[in-house]
Amino acid sequence: MRVAMIGTGYVGLVSGACFADFGHVVTCIDKDASKIERLEKGEIPIFEPGLEALVETNVRGGRLSFTLDGAEAIRTADAVFIGVGTPSRRGDGHADLSYVYAAAAEIADLIQGFTVVVTKSTVPVGTGDEIERIIRERRPDAEFAVVSNPEFLREGAAIEDFKRPDRVVIGVNDIDSPTGARARTVMAELYRPLNLNESPLLFTERRTSELIKYAANAFLAMKITFINEMADLCEKVGADVQQVARGIGLDKRIGNKFLHAGPGYGGSCFPKDTLALVRTATDAGSPVRLIETTVAVNAARKAALADRVRVTLGDDLKGKTVALLGLTFKPNTDDMRDAPSLDLAPALIAAGATVRAYDPEGMHEAAALMPDVAMTSGPYEAVEGADVVVIVTEWDQFRALDLDRIKLLMKRAIMVDLRNVYRPDDMRARGYVYSGIGRP
Ligand code: NAD
Repeated sequence: MRVAMIGTGYVGLVSGACFADFGHVVTCIDKDASKIERLEKGEIPIFEPGLEALVETNVRGGRLSFTLDGAEAIRTADAVFIGVGTPSRRGDGHADLSYVYAAAAEIADLIQGFTVVVTKSTVPVGTGDEIERIIRERRPDAEFAVVSNPEFLREGAAIEDFKRPDRVVIGVNDIDSPTGARARTVMAELYRPLNLNESPLLFTERRTSELIKYAANAFLAMKITFINEMADLCEKVGADVQQVARGIGLDKRIGNKFLHAGPGYGGSCFPKDTLALVRTATDAGSPVRLIETTVAVNAARKAALADRVRVTLGDDLKGKTVALLGLTFKPNTDDMRDAPSLDLAPALIAAGATVRAYDPEGMHEAAALMPDVAMTSGPYEAVEGADVVVIVTEWDQFRALDLDRIKLLMKRAIMVDLRNVYRPDDMRARGYVYSGIGRP
């Protein structure tokens, strides 16, 4: 099959490379010239484990290419994917669909022969209808179907997630009509390499598929927020949230994933997708109060992070030096979008602290977003002379730090561990003032 992927970001690049690896011929299109230039030179503009090798193999195999001008690729494609960003619209939290609709208009002007237009971006219910309207209006003659195929990959494990998904949701309207059936055939063929034992494909109507993505992200954000509130309660009543998480997670109805208490969820999806779902639901006259509360609780949690540092320090932050280990919203990505560090660092600075930081992959992005934070060359450089060190992101390299060395380098041995990487009893035995999340 021939695939055109519009938008070559975290989702478009991984999906495009994986489809190419399945044997399809894929052109990844982006309007960001520097991104395409780098990709053409074999450089990967994002950090995602395994992606560089996957891209290289498929480029060499002639199945994957990159271009600024997608006209030819779109004209000849069996399926054109829209994988552009859908950030929060400033002011109201709705998903900003301007990139999606611009892509739809470009597609309309180019497609030839029957083409499946697939929305991979996360888009509110009804967006597929609007894409269909845009294309139909510009090209009354065109033969096409608009399909929803939301992406569930996680940054940091994106290739594995794409190639071994729990499910692939595909929303096709009127699947028994001639057009619906053709669209289904194209989608099934694209994902055929996944059908090893049992097919993971779940076909639904398009609106249902669009909503599944938001429902999944909102549920996960709620699960994280639930365990974070339990952690706060544990701190007050002398219980251990890690054991609570284990104790409830062993119940199969609950499951043990996404029960790690921490600084609050961040990243490029949960914050914007929970907000957009709240908007969609409010507009539809069917408010989702659990998610409204999730959004509010998470925001309050991130806003209170600096105070957590102050309390552990047992002192005013004014004139103190704080070292942050980790800046990205989770390990194994360089993505800084809505990372908790973006709340924490400015609040520390506003309280009068000097902030130094180290992150294995995120510092380039972070430097532009937090100009007042001094970026350092390693974890030991970051903690030098610091009054307190905060583990913000649980990168593997922070799991076995030389704690005696850190103690010697710091002004005072105080650690705030927002990811519960270390054990409270062990840290105290080493002479640290230590606080984790939700543990006595
Ligand atoms: P991104 O910002 O990394 O990439 C989007 C890319 O689209 C950019 O490179 C941009 O230049 C390009 N673009 C925008 N308009 C274009 C146009 N008209 N033509 C060509 N290129 C264009 O975004 P992302 O993180 O890959 O997310 C894309 C979508 O996937 C979003 O809707 C997001 O919610 C969803 N999603 C993201 C993840 C994730 O982990 N990042 C996971 C699942 C779903």
